[in-house]
Amino acid sequence: SSEPFLQAEPTEEIGFKGHGMLAPFTAGWQSTDVNPLVIDRSEGAYVYDINGKKYIDALAGLWCTALGGNEPRLVKAATEQLNKLPFYHSFWNRTTKPSLDLANEILKMFTAREMGKVFFANSGSEANDSQVKLVWYYNNALGRPKKKKFIARSKSYHGSTLIAASLSGLPALHQKFDLPAPFVLHTDCPHYWRFHLPDETEEEFSTRLANNLESLIIKEGPETIAAFIAEPVMGAGGVILPPKSYFEKIQAVLKKYDILLIADEVITAFGRLGTMFGCDKYDIKPDLVSIAKALSSAYMPIAAILVSPEIADVIHSESNKLGSFAHGFTYSGHPVSCAVAIEALKIYNERNITKNVNEIAPRFQEGIKAFSGSPIIGETRGLGLILGTEFVDNKSPNDPFPAEWGVGSIFGAECEKRGMLIRVAGDSIMLSPPLIMTPGEVDEIVSKYGDALEATE
Ligand code: PLP
Repeated sequence: SSEPFLQAEPTEEIGFKGHGMLAPFTAGWQSTDVNPLVIDRSEGAYVYDINGKKYIDALAGLWCTALGGNEPRLVKAATEQLNKLPFYHSFWNRTTKPSLDLANEILKMFTAREMGKVFFANSGSEANDSQVKLVWYYNNALGRPKKKKFIARSKSYHGSTLIAASLSGLPALHQKFDLPAPFVLHTDCPHYWRFHLPDETEEEFSTRLANNLESLIIKEGPETIAAFIAEPVMGAGGVILPPKSYFEKIQAVLKKYDILLIADEVITAFGRLGTMFGCDKYDIKPDLVSIAKALSSAYMPIAAILVSPEIADVIHSESNKLGSFAHGFTYSGHPVSCAVAIEALKIYNERNITKNVNEIAPRFQEGIKAFSGSPIIGETRGLGLILGTEFVDNKSPNDPFPAEWGVGSIFGAECEKRGMLIRVAGDSIMLSPPLIMTPGEVDEIVSKYGDALEATE
């Protein structure tokens, strides 16, 4: 299986074995036969389980607690808003000040191109589902009802609701769920190390992938393709960085056939790559952007879509004709989530979060890449504060270890034993620590990674 089967230390006396949760991304036997790892509290870059054991949180929760645990300003922002106005909605031109302020702040911070409007959702999945509806609405308004298909990439992760799981390119999200939906097509994963041909340079690899994309568009009929969705750096698929000139070449193809580009920045937004957004890093000029996770440093659930001025204008005039843009959620622009997000963005700006990322990134990247000579490591790749390692036999992408050996899971369990939490997916492991880490905490991650590797070898 591609999921981590990590076994927590026994917590028999507390008795959560065989618990009542149908737990997300968890196998049946895990929630019946094994005690879950129950996290109880957090402090900076650390979390503690209910037995008091301390772990360095090298995945920042799920790539999201950018400011770590107990940031007092976020707690204060939430508390003040809860006391003042715990909830009001944003339907029918009624709204709240935090949601208006946050929309403006997001538009100011995103500078890769000018954006027109912000739509609020509660999770990355909801944001990506909403993207599809928005694009369909837009193309219907423009009188091109056939232009409805989406192209995503294999190994991408865009969430787990019906449409977001369809867009995702990970087989586990499709199997037994009758997915992907028929309007979703998948093109190549841009993983140079794994998929390049003998003697093919990175540039040539990018050219080939852009050509494959163009062939797919022509085969399907450009008039049927609405949008292409991509994470600037693929996260859950294994931390896959785009090869040289990839986005330049892909964007040229999309432009040629009038296909919208959606940047899924759910992981990459707000500093993770050393730039405020992934679009800045790779010179991506998207029509739509999804953000979530670090938007509130995960202290409250919130996500958002940035909409280009052109699309916003079309939605505006079409909804005037129809009487309403009939899409949204009770909690779109939840005032407590928005208040927390406003404070998180203030902190990113005031503390110059990208500067901290750029200062500690070399220590993190070089520290971990120093283990690349290990006989079980195929590739370690990363940028800023995100990194993935792929374990293979013979240093070759073509020689995976037998799945039943569970090399990734063994490494994950060795990390956990030593007090470090990471992400495991098959024989890929991923790190994405809080952005506020100190050099000492980086060293701790590097040293625990080294010890876990030695134990796994
Ligand atoms: N998009 C990307 C790139 C993600 O990494 C994720 C979650 O990890 C999602 C979308 C889905 O977000 P959520 O789990 O909040 O629905």
